[in-house]
Amino acid sequence: MSRDLDELYQNVILDHNRVPRNFRELPAPARHAEGHNPLCGDHLTVWVDLDGETLRDVTFLGNGCAISKASASMMTAAVKGKSRTEARELAGEFQRLVTGHLPAADARKALGKLAALGGVSEFPVRVKCASLPWHTLKAALAGAEQEVSTE
Ligand code: ZN
Repeated sequence: MSRDLDELYQNVILDHNRVPRNFRELPAPARHAEGHNPLCGDHLTVWVDLDGETLRDVTFLGNGCAISKASASMMTAAVKGKSRTEARELAGEFQRLVTGHLPAADARKALGKLAALGGVSEFPVRVKCASLPWHTLKAALAGAEQEVSTE
């Protein structure tokens, strides 16, 4: 990856960390789930308001490192308005990205701004920070009441 692109990506992450999108709670009957990454101390709650199969609104609150917060912020923006199936597919592509299994050329096309988090694949400890919001979203969609943990 070129240095300029690297910097651009870093700016996206810093921006979402500083001004997280959809950083609020949703009232019932929206579903929610909690996620915890003990290795880093990231802790977040994701809310999903479903309209049939569509994710009408997705929000989060929590404390954690810049990567987990930026990832959660970008995730909420990316899956809002998508169907459950589309959201699940995006989660799968994102997991491939952060584990280094999605070529950079495909990442931008498949994931848009989320591709900014591709750099974490070089830092195994950070992969859990980036994927925690997605695991938590999946738990919320599944209606799981137990806290999700990366460990
Ligand atoms: Zn973290």
